[in-house]
Amino acid sequence: ADVTLSPHQVSSEQDVENSLRPRKLDDFVGQPRVREQLQLVLHGALGRGEQPDHVLFSGPPGLGKTSLAMIIAAELGAAIRVTSGPALERPGDLAAMLSNLTEGDVLFIDEIHRIARPAEEMLYLAMEDYRVDVVVGKGPGATSIPLEIAPFTLVGATTRSGSLTGPLRDRFGFTAHMEFYAPSELEEVIRRSAGILHVDLRDDGAREIARRCRGTPRIANRLLRRVRDYAEVRADGVVTLEVARAALEVYDVDEFGLDRLDRAVLGALVRSFNGGPVGISTLAVAVGEEPTTVEEVCEPYLVRAGMLARTPRGRVATVAAWHHLGAVPPPDTPG
Ligand code: ADP
Repeated sequence: ADVTLSPHQVSSEQDVENSLRPRKLDDFVGQPRVREQLQLVLHGALGRGEQPDHVLFSGPPGLGKTSLAMIIAAELGAAIRVTSGPALERPGDLAAMLSNLTEGDVLFIDEIHRIARPAEEMLYLAMEDYRVDVVVGKGPGATSIPLEIAPFTLVGATTRSGSLTGPLRDRFGFTAHMEFYAPSELEEVIRRSAGILHVDLRDDGAREIARRCRGTPRIANRLLRRVRDYAEVRADGVVTLEVARAALEVYDVDEFGLDRLDRAVLGALVRSFNGGPVGISTLAVAVGEEPTTVEEVCEPYLVRAGMLARTPRGRVATVAAWHHLGAVPPPDTPG
């Protein structure tokens, strides 16, 4: 018989990811420095009855920047409005967003480094004086009308803090850089998620996923769901070390947690460019990816894993990368 599901019965992977999002600062695993600093920023302002300073989070994708933005709103008892740099191409879009804020709101702008210049300039005044200048008309007859907006806290997230302009960066009162998570922290993330998803998870299974998720909670959660599928379909539903290993093999996650794209990048670097140095765009073309994906998604973890080094002349494969691919490094390869 046909089974018809109404839209609200279908829960997507995105819904599952949202269900795993930590809601309070205390549920947020790891990043102890960031948590402590943020707690002080928020509670200091709350105590004085002031609007907290604007906050900027930088770091690779999946480390919890969006989650922290939502936690900030929850801790302040405020509403959160969500947008992203690429969505704010015209300053009018931003002006509309800003003038709709109510007092105390949190405005979250993801990928804030991709905001268009005119919108960025509008943001300066909004961040500093809770004001926007709306330009009406064109050419010599154009006038700008100052408009007051409600006091708000901007939370920006970026995978490239280096490409933020100085004036924008300077307007954030608190900036935190998110680091990759330690294996013990990832185990905690995985155990917490397994509890929410009712997955029967053994300690050694959790450890194996933690070791192979590129230091990233989002990937940890994703791998947990894939390993659960395997456990249910091919085993008795229990996530053990053996089940985790077998499942990760099926999904092309290697011993170091590198995925297919990571390996393609290292493979191209070693085989096509003899270990480098090679520029990021050339490397991206070689693996058929966008340079920004290679630079912002792949590279940070490969650097952290000690497989890739950035030099002034380009990217270079390390001895560990050559060995990982089962190849012999040339004599002058960096360690
Ligand atoms: P980002 O905005 O940095 O790309 P997100 O905040 O969207 O990352 O996090 C992705 C997912 O990873 C979230 O849905 C959440 O389930 C999980 N996650 C991230 N950081 C943590 C954390 N510190 N503790 C628990 N879960 C986390």
